Amino acid sequence: MAFFEQLGKTINDASDSLKRKTQNFTEVNSLEKQVNSNQSVVQNMYAEIGRAYYEAHKADEQDVYAEQCGVITRALNQIAQLQDQIRIKKGIQLCPNCGAQLAPGSVFCAGCGAQVAQPAQPMNNAPQGGGSGMQAPNMQAGNTVPQAPVQQAPVQQTDNNAPQMPNTRLCGQCGSQIPADSAFCPVCGQRI
Ligand SMILES: [Zn+2]
Ligand SMILES: [Zn+2]
Repeated sequence: MAFFEQLGKTINDASDSLKRKTQNFTEVNSLEKQVNSNQSVVQNMYAEIGRAYYEAHKADEQDVYAEQCGVITRALNQIAQLQDQIRIKKGIQLCPNCGAQLAPGSVFCAGCGAQVAQPAQPMNNAPQGGGSGMQAPNMQAGNTVPQAPVQQAPVQQTDNNAPQMPNTRLCGQCGSQIPADSAFCPVCGQRI
């Protein structure tokens, strides 16, 4: 009898010990998670302070951290150059006026309306120039706003029947399909 009692006690002890180990494991896991989350809070704050310090001191060559700031500046410049190379490889152009990405083949920036390329038709004078010289159809309408809707209506109706890509709309002036968030038509420069 004593043998079986002893055996039972041993089994119970082993089971208790396993329970304790499992519980410890769970608790350690949870504690480690809390350590990790606090560590990432600290890292984020370090980064925030470092960025603020860099912005405030990057121009100061006598600064205590001038060397580190210089490393950051060089790395940032490299990033900008590399991103330029990526854009060129991808055929993406930026507006020289506002820095917005230009859709392929844009004549006008969809963000600010600046002319960024020569139109396909031979036209040497920039449309938004003095207003003298070439009389592009969009110029007339742009200068005399109230008349524009009369010309717009038929263009819009014919093109509305054509399948439209999502996130695009039609320019009321020239009927081109343009990104929905355009402030200006990339094709004719009309303010949307
Ligand atoms: Zn622009
Ligand atoms: Zn247009």
